[in-house]
Amino acid sequence: MSLHLSHQLKVYNTLSGEKEIFQPITDGYVGMYVCGPTVYSNVHLGNVRTFMSFDMIFRYLKHLGYKVRYVRNITDAGHLENDADVGEDKITKKARLEAIEPMEIVQRYTVDFHNVLNTFNFLPPSIEPTATGHIIEQIDLIQSIIDNGFAYVVNGSVYFDVHKYNESNEYGILSKRKLEDLIHNTRALDGQSDKKNPQDFALWKKAEPTHIMRWPSPWSDGFPGWHLECTAMSTKYLGEYFDIHGGGMDLKFPHHECEIAQNQAAKGQDPVKYWMHANMLELNGARMSKSTGNYINPAELLSGDNDIMSKAYNPSVIRFFMMQASYRSILDLTDAGLAASEKGFQRLMDAIGLIDHLKTGKTSSFNVTDWKQKCYDAMNDDFNTPILIATLFEGVKYINQIKDGSATVTSEDLSILKETIETFVFDVLGLVNISKENSGSDKLAGAVEILINLRKEARLNKDFAMSDKIRDELAEAGIQLNDSREGTTFTTN
Ligand code: AMP
Ligand code: ZN
Repeated sequence: MSLHLSHQLKVYNTLSGEKEIFQPITDGYVGMYVCGPTVYSNVHLGNVRTFMSFDMIFRYLKHLGYKVRYVRNITDAGHLENDADVGEDKITKKARLEAIEPMEIVQRYTVDFHNVLNTFNFLPPSIEPTATGHIIEQIDLIQSIIDNGFAYVVNGSVYFDVHKYNESNEYGILSKRKLEDLIHNTRALDGQSDKKNPQDFALWKKAEPTHIMRWPSPWSDGFPGWHLECTAMSTKYLGEYFDIHGGGMDLKFPHHECEIAQNQAAKGQDPVKYWMHANMLELNGARMSKSTGNYINPAELLSGDNDIMSKAYNPSVIRFFMMQASYRSILDLTDAGLAASEKGFQRLMDAIGLIDHLKTGKTSSFNVTDWKQKCYDAMNDDFNTPILIATLFEGVKYINQIKDGSATVTSEDLSILKETIETFVFDVLGLVNISKENSGSDKLAGAVEILINLRKEARLNKDFAMSDKIRDELAEAGIQLNDSREGTTFTTN
């Protein structure tokens, strides 16, 4: 086990409203579940921020030496418009509008989601389960909830009885809402007449004849409620009691509140030790959101093809910008903010580029060991990345002073400095060195050169099938070979 574990990590638990000492249920292991996207459209940058917050948390926990099982689901059924119990399924609606199969929608936007995450250098989760792949588990859960008396069946649909549940449990324990206030503030909506009370929520919905995504169940041909999938999948892969459950702040209520209620009703306990919520990304002072149209997609920001920003930004600059705010603070996406981050990021990369060329001496004029501890202290204080970055910049300042001769460093301290800064910048914050990234194109050129030579050899051996195969497969990968008298060159698209 890494010696960093002696550092005391604290995490803010939404349930207690306090920063708590992080003590995993099983020593050395962490189970973490994060609600994934509903794959009915391209993810916007707000979605990216939430997933990035948990990517950073995943990275730091791994860095501390924990074996982390990170489960992040894909919602591919059951999430209705307006996060409600009535209305059309988000994916089915998009499929109807585009006249294609719902599963084509799911596939298209799952691929988009993965591409975006790759662009921003995310680590893949350990398991990425889908709602449609866990219908049987969800049906079993509903049955337990019915058997325990906390759900009722009406016209083929099953609803969770919030009032009954609240007699022996606390509905609102996570979001700090009171059922009485909810009753007071809820108007009965049309189409909810099946429910005993408007606060009840669907566990299973009977499908209308036109509803494409449907499964057989003891109650009707239908589909599961949105909150149920996460209850089923989190406990299936992480056990009846696991360490961390995360998601965006907006999921606290009703989604996570309902998850707790479902688990309590089925198994008699909240399975989560630490509930963690990431704060929202804003644009023009309002929450970024698909439904209001106030959003920007990653592709638009990366290409510069948008009316909001003055230019294109590199994915690591955007990541650096996001890491400059605490995951629990609201962050407003602005051109000025991104431009400032771009400068800061460049300064950081420049300093890292200098480290290997610095002269060492007999003494150090900066306490590198204390500075390293400050980096850990920042992260151990509920993953405080802005303080971490400010501390890393103390290291940057020192590097620049060593370079211009106004400070000195021993070779031992220089290696601590290098290791610490690279670990936090690349492994924990997940940033990518832009100058190293460029050398990726040199590597590509080298690899294509090898293939060009193999093709030349194949032609000399009159193996034209092989030479054409190399040319065609490279073309499919977006690399065109251009033959001329001088030899073969290549272009990429
Ligand atoms: P959805 O696909 O709508 O279920 O959202 C996927 C994730 O993105 C959820 O964890 C949301 O809480 C999160 N999210 C949605 N909008 C924003 C935003 N503006 N800023 C940060 N996270 C967001
Ligand atoms: Zn969820």
